Amino acid sequence: MFSKLKIHEKPGVVEWAERCLVLPRETSPNAPGRFSTARMPYMREPLESIREEGLQHIYWCFGTQSGKTVSLLIAAAYFIDNDPAPMLWALPTEILARSFSRARLQPLISKNDVLARHKRRDPDAFTAAEMRLDSMELYMVGVSEPGNLSSRPIMRCVMDEEAKYKHENKEEAHPVDLIEERAKGFHRYQILHASTPSSEDSYFWQNFITTDMRKFYVPCPRCGEMMPLEFSRNTVQWERREDLEGDALADWVQDHTFYVCPHCEGRVEDWEKIGMMEKGEWRPTNPNASRARRGYHLNSLYSPFVTWGQTARKFIVAQNDLFRQVALHNFRNGWEALPFTQYEIKVGDDSVRGLRGVCRRGELPRHYYYMVVAYDPGQNQTHWVAQAIGRGGETWVVDWGTLLGISTTDATPGIGAHFESLEWGGVRPDFGLIDSGDWAQKVYDECY
Ligand SMILES: [Zn+2]
Repeated sequence: MFSKLKIHEKPGVVEWAERCLVLPRETSPNAPGRFSTARMPYMREPLESIREEGLQHIYWCFGTQSGKTVSLLIAAAYFIDNDPAPMLWALPTEILARSFSRARLQPLISKNDVLARHKRRDPDAFTAAEMRLDSMELYMVGVSEPGNLSSRPIMRCVMDEEAKYKHENKEEAHPVDLIEERAKGFHRYQILHASTPSSEDSYFWQNFITTDMRKFYVPCPRCGEMMPLEFSRNTVQWERREDLEGDALADWVQDHTFYVCPHCEGRVEDWEKIGMMEKGEWRPTNPNASRARRGYHLNSLYSPFVTWGQTARKFIVAQNDLFRQVALHNFRNGWEALPFTQYEIKVGDDSVRGLRGVCRRGELPRHYYYMVVAYDPGQNQTHWVAQAIGRGGETWVVDWGTLLGISTTDATPGIGAHFESLEWGGVRPDFGLIDSGDWAQKVYDECY
């Protein structure tokens, strides 16, 4: 009798998926073929968590190239064949939802017999927006189209790329809450929130930090201490080459990066990563979380698809990007899987003086990218500085001074008249910036 009962017991997610699923190239460009967690052992626990009773909210806060999307698809596939219930898959826009459905989800269902056998004969039952299977319905929606969020009942929901959901209509609740409302009719509801983070004050991050925030600890091959892999100047290092810059430096860094254990300062090589991950374990870092809220955090250093050197290269390139702030923002969100906050960098006077060049006042450097003049208006005076900026972000102070007022009148030149008068040997500034601060209206009038 017990053996009969066992037949009906649901299989484990990983065991079932590794036994039954083959990933078509469309679904998994990185690792097509039979599904396996061998290269990403960190996915085993998050995947099993979807069948844990009482877990209402699961957060996967994952970096780029970590296998997040494939794992979400595995979760959906598992439910279709093992524990069907109406399900909603939300993405930031309807266009994204439809194309994701066609390009990645539908091929997975159609090319695996264990899933395809649940399709109905009626072709209208299997569209990009709605898959009505013999046991459950799967709806794909974009949260930017509000009509989509408020009809059918759902028990499970995947909120994919959640940090990119826009809260357009402030009269209404946040789209995440609107979707959750629909699921709460079921007492066994479950929501899987999956995203790279955006900013610190975003809805996704603020909710994620109320979970138990698990990190994946791996043993150091040198001293055996357990540690999470983290991106910092102390941990991700490369062999120094002062003589290189630009692409040559990026190439060098890609091939000469290693990880430094914070416990023993031992050097760990990228090829050791897979062995470390096999012995890794998830550990909660927030003891105050509710038992119904589980969170997994994983940055791209764990990815089997990118090396530490490639990650370090991304960082170097971002640092030298013309739009450095934007590039570093993307690096922090995508690769570190952390929200972006302005870095505070403390630099001593001596280190600044050490970088001084030999440009005389009013003289332009030989090679620069653009010229900018910045004004800082105050109560009695407006200070200004003209700078030449190089492609790598290097800066040359070309000229500076003080004006008495903001506004240009017949009697006194203000910012506008001053800006128009500037030139150095025939070179005019490319643009000007004004820190309007407390003087916004006055500054706007002057600009006008
Ligand atoms: Zn160590």
